[in-house]
Amino acid sequence: MSDTQHQQHSPSPTDFGFEIEHRLVHDGAEAPDGRPLGRAGVISTPHGEIRTPAFIPVGTKATVKSLLPETVAELGGQAVLANAYHLFLQPGSDIVDEAGGLGKFMNWPGPTFTDSGGFQVMSLGVGFKKVISMSAEANAEAEVIAKTKERLAHVDEDGVTFKSFINGDRHRFTPEVSMQVQHQLGADIIFAFDELTTLFDSREYQEQSVARTERWAVRCLDEHARLTSVRTHRPYQALFGVVQGAQYEDLRRSAARGLAGLRGAEATEQSFDGFGIGGAIEKRELGTIVAWVSEELPEDKPRHLLGISEPEDMFVAVAAGVDTFDCVAPSRQARGGTMYSSGGRVNAKSAGQRRKFEPLDPECDCYTCQNFTAAYLHHLFKANEMLASTLATIHNERYIVRLVDRMRESIIDGTFAELRDETLGRLARRARS
Ligand SMILES: [Zn+2]
Repeated sequence: MSDTQHQQHSPSPTDFGFEIEHRLVHDGAEAPDGRPLGRAGVISTPHGEIRTPAFIPVGTKATVKSLLPETVAELGGQAVLANAYHLFLQPGSDIVDEAGGLGKFMNWPGPTFTDSGGFQVMSLGVGFKKVISMSAEANAEAEVIAKTKERLAHVDEDGVTFKSFINGDRHRFTPEVSMQVQHQLGADIIFAFDELTTLFDSREYQEQSVARTERWAVRCLDEHARLTSVRTHRPYQALFGVVQGAQYEDLRRSAARGLAGLRGAEATEQSFDGFGIGGAIEKRELGTIVAWVSEELPEDKPRHLLGISEPEDMFVAVAAGVDTFDCVAPSRQARGGTMYSSGGRVNAKSAGQRRKFEPLDPECDCYTCQNFTAAYLHHLFKANEMLASTLATIHNERYIVRLVDRMRESIIDGTFAELRDETLGRLARRARS
């Protein structure tokens, strides 16, 4: 073996890739030129592949709550998404770095994501938590509110100052700090630091925010390139830019175009490896907004939709060109006893489950439904047993992961519209009955 073969492979953007395998030919969202937006593909990372579309289970603090990593893999989870803000505060991104990175620390051998922390810095820091609510009931008052509301997490041109939700300590995140934290955490896919806006922010503020997010994106690209060149002992990390712009077509399109063509100011070879679609999106506008963004983004780079897991939203988003999703809702709701099923939501704690000696969802192939009855799950919840969370989380995560896997299969075999109509039709029928 020669000396060069002994040397460590230097991390390179070519260690990350995305191949489109099939395009969605259907009646759904298509670009004005008739180009179909939906696709099935494969994301390649240094820790393995992700077949898309895919739902990525969330492990905020480097654990998918109540599940062993083996269980996450068994239920079909292809990757795990952790949160840079939470891990920065606890245990500290330096600890995760010393442990060998996120995957090693949590014993998850597959691909990992971290989100930038921008959402949590600004939403947990500001005190009005429902900022990404998909409702605009107060939108009419938005202009007034946005001008009078004091932001407790202070955003300035350089970054964001915020208080820890754990102990009140003051911290500061800048684009550079976010990149340093995410490089220490070492996930395969990381996100640029963006400013969170809400449906309650004024149009004027949204414009300023999109412009600032782009200036921050350049700083992220430069710091990412610098860290990649000095941390040669670690695999390449792919950096995704995040498209904001709320409900405004011109802002969303220009934000997407801007990020797609963006290069670092100093590291001029560095561009984004993929894109996140973030920010305030009203449910009924979801498909339209995602389609605007997809039309502007390069086809050969993956697109991640942040924080979405409702079946109808995921069908709409996949048709409009989304490749991966993450959301805390399936596991959070499971721990509260709200179970997903082919017939809609079921409350595991409701009295009707007490003598239901059959699986929670007879059509589900998960470990929980294959081995336990709804009556047993009801009992575990009523008795406050820890196993309730584990069994419920396995089911909900499997339901969502499998649903998106079936979307992938349906894109490949040309039955996407049938799957969508059948799945959503059943959910709607049960909801009415
Ligand atoms: Zn199940």
